[in-house]
Amino acid sequence: MVKVVKFGGSSLASAEQFKKVGNIIRSDDSRKYVIPSAPGKRFDEDTKVTDMLYKCYAEAEAGKSFDRHLKAIEERYNEIIKGLGLKLSLKEQFETIKKNFQAKAGSDYAASRGEYLNGIIMAKYLDYEFIDAATVICFDKNGEFNGEKTNEVMAHRLEGTKNAVVPGFYGALPNGQIKTFSRGGSDVTGSIVARALKADVYENWTDVSGFLAADPRIVDNPKPITIITYKELRELSYMGASVLHESAIFPVRKEGIPINIKNTNAPDDKGTMIVETTCNKPDCIITGIAGKKGFVSISIDKDMMNSEIGFGRKVLQVFEDNGISFEHMPSGIDTMTVFVHQDEFVENEQKVLAQLHRAVHPDTIELEADLALIAVVGRGMKNNSGIAGNIFSALAKQKINIKMIDQGSSELNIIIGVRNRYFEDAIKTIYNVFVPENNAVKK
Ligand code: ADP
Ligand code: ASP
Ligand code: MG
Repeated sequence: MVKVVKFGGSSLASAEQFKKVGNIIRSDDSRKYVIPSAPGKRFDEDTKVTDMLYKCYAEAEAGKSFDRHLKAIEERYNEIIKGLGLKLSLKEQFETIKKNFQAKAGSDYAASRGEYLNGIIMAKYLDYEFIDAATVICFDKNGEFNGEKTNEVMAHRLEGTKNAVVPGFYGALPNGQIKTFSRGGSDVTGSIVARALKADVYENWTDVSGFLAADPRIVDNPKPITIITYKELRELSYMGASVLHESAIFPVRKEGIPINIKNTNAPDDKGTMIVETTCNKPDCIITGIAGKKGFVSISIDKDMMNSEIGFGRKVLQVFEDNGISFEHMPSGIDTMTVFVHQDEFVENEQKVLAQLHRAVHPDTIELEADLALIAVVGRGMKNNSGIAGNIFSALAKQKINIKMIDQGSSELNIIIGVRNRYFEDAIKTIYNVFVPENNAVKK
């Protein structure tokens, strides 16, 4: 049995946390491949090492002195090394980093050092082989991740290794230049390593006991999800449930490897299993709720729009030409509404409106800003009638006006649009409708 284990920043923020991680790994022989993140926050107001590195590099790039910043980072690592009682010095690595910062090696290089250095410490602590991610995670010359090449190189490199530490979050272009994934990208590295090894399971260790049915910052004590499918998870993580990077399921999905989200601070909790498909009946009709604020709706009205061939394409072309991606597009006979990210839209507002007028000659265009979208997701919704109705009446009781409702054809999710200011209340209300025991799906 082979398990690939990824530990997030909060699991590696201090020597004390490292020791918990060490115990977890040593308690199970199959935990042979380890992906560490950079040290995260030790307490609420603390700063993640990745953020310290970005800041430090920004000073270097501006030609300012960055010694003080780099020293503070070095101290974070030295505190961990000392706390673990290791015979290890990162002096040489910090000298190289300093030189490369002076030579303006790029902010990706800078950020990646967080994982790189933590990987060196982890390998020493566990007595595992250290493999620099720059040698096994491949990006192409345009900076796009090259999944197939990486899989080949990674599988080849890991062949014959007994155990190894591969730092998360970064890789390299063909010319050796360091490139990172987007924030939270160590989750992706773990998934890539699991795929290359055809591992039995990818364990993703964090600071919560699995995926919760709603954001714990909005709903008190949300129910943990025991089992969730890749598809459901994708919907939830795309819509803001930030436990796992939204791209992390793609590599493991190719090999049908389950992901198990686990809690470093409560290792005996079962956590959440993320699987391709399952006969397991969900406890509730819905699996989870997530959402994002900050959308604008653009409603375009024109009589007989429905019979005008190419109308939708022309509208979407305008958004494409302005580099604005659309999120949802509910439509009626004479009306079409496009939901876009407010921050992408506002800069070009008048230009987009003028171009829409020219492209499709609408009767009217109406805008509504400061909207939030909420996704209610669940494989249990299929063949269950009245779900949208229940959402409507619960929100109406709370006097929350629904701006839009859109059910995906897969019956896996319902998207609801409300004003930003009702976002939290709407999530709480929907959660309370579906999660109490008396609403559970009959087993
Ligand atoms: P790590 O540093 O281990 O990668 P992250 O901070 O990226 O951890 O992700 C874990 C955090 O995600 C939790 O501490 C929690 O605050 C947040 N979170 C947001 N939505 C959810 C959800 N639906 N279920 C669980 N955690 C959530
Ligand atoms: N350390 C990186 C970040 O803070 C990557 C990660 O944590 O996954 O985004
Ligand atoms: Mg994360």
